[in-house]
Amino acid sequence: MVSDTLDIQISKAETSRLPQIDYSNLVFGQNFSDHMLVADYADGQWQNFQILPYGEIKMSPAMSVLHYGQTFFEGLKAYKLADGRVSIFRPNKNAERFNKSAERLCMPQLPEDLFVQSIAALVELDQQWIPDKENHSLYIRPFMFATEAALGVHPSATYKFCVLTCPVGPYFSKYLKVKVETEYARACDGGFGFAKAAGNYAGSMLPAKKAAEEGFDQIIWTDAREHAFVEELGAANIVFVMDGKIVTPSTRDTILKGVTRDSILEIAKSWNVPVEERRVAVAEILDGIKNGKVTEAFGVGTAATITSIAEIGFKGEVYTLPDPAKGEFAAKLRRTLDDIKYGRTEDINNWNY
Ligand code: PMP
Repeated sequence: MVSDTLDIQISKAETSRLPQIDYSNLVFGQNFSDHMLVADYADGQWQNFQILPYGEIKMSPAMSVLHYGQTFFEGLKAYKLADGRVSIFRPNKNAERFNKSAERLCMPQLPEDLFVQSIAALVELDQQWIPDKENHSLYIRPFMFATEAALGVHPSATYKFCVLTCPVGPYFSKYLKVKVETEYARACDGGFGFAKAAGNYAGSMLPAKKAAEEGFDQIIWTDAREHAFVEELGAANIVFVMDGKIVTPSTRDTILKGVTRDSILEIAKSWNVPVEERRVAVAEILDGIKNGKVTEAFGVGTAATITSIAEIGFKGEVYTLPDPAKGEFAAKLRRTLDDIKYGRTEDINNWNY
């Protein structure tokens, strides 16, 4: 999809809130940059693209998203490169996924270049908010929601597209103890697990709370039918190292197709490491930990980056992985991906926008 160059009306904040932010102690998603982008969908088209000072937006209590949940989001990051320039990591991938989510939730498409140009304009304006530190970045949160003030289950006639940004540090600061979920499911066949629909995250909160009460940091989601196959790790994709191969669940309608997942699989392939995208049985992983075939397990995502798993709980038993501090694949993938994101190596795949 193509469009003409985007016309964005910009109203700048009178004063910046930047001096009030403690960059040595950034809590994920708590500090919003000076500006936000908003646009409206009405009469069958996107219009009124504006960058405004970050702040409240007016809404009707009848607004359809509040009742029927027609909303979804994206998550990507901007980095300060080694040479001082600013880069957004693979925004076209997020634009593509944005439209897949929109399609499944019966919401309008946003042409990819409008998505990318909107984000680029916002990041450019607030670029002084991008932390200049290892493991730090500017998290970008685009989202769309239904705004029609009318009850009744039908697709809204109007929508809003917004983008917020937040300076962030590392999401997880330790190796994870995770639980294989055997009661609840995040997504089912024919559902919308592949979309970044808000409802997927709402449904994950109770199981996550229960897992936390049992002492676990995250949940390994399994298939809804039998709880026999591994799907995802919390809000990240999951990757195993088995017999020196990279093994990860193949994407399907229950799994979000992660940009980080795609990136690390590309990197592994470029090293000639065998990569297997296939169904991964829970039993195979637990047996593999016992007999030493599974040497590493980690979550991969924009917020989580690459976070190693130390222990997996399954039906009251705990399976301990080899010391993640010695996990070579996770460390090497993390280093390689970071070198690209922070502009310390040649960006041969053209991932930095
Ligand atoms: N799965 C889920 C359910 C997620 O919410 C995310 C985070 N967007 C991911 C996987 C990882 O995707 P990405 O690498 O694009 O951030």
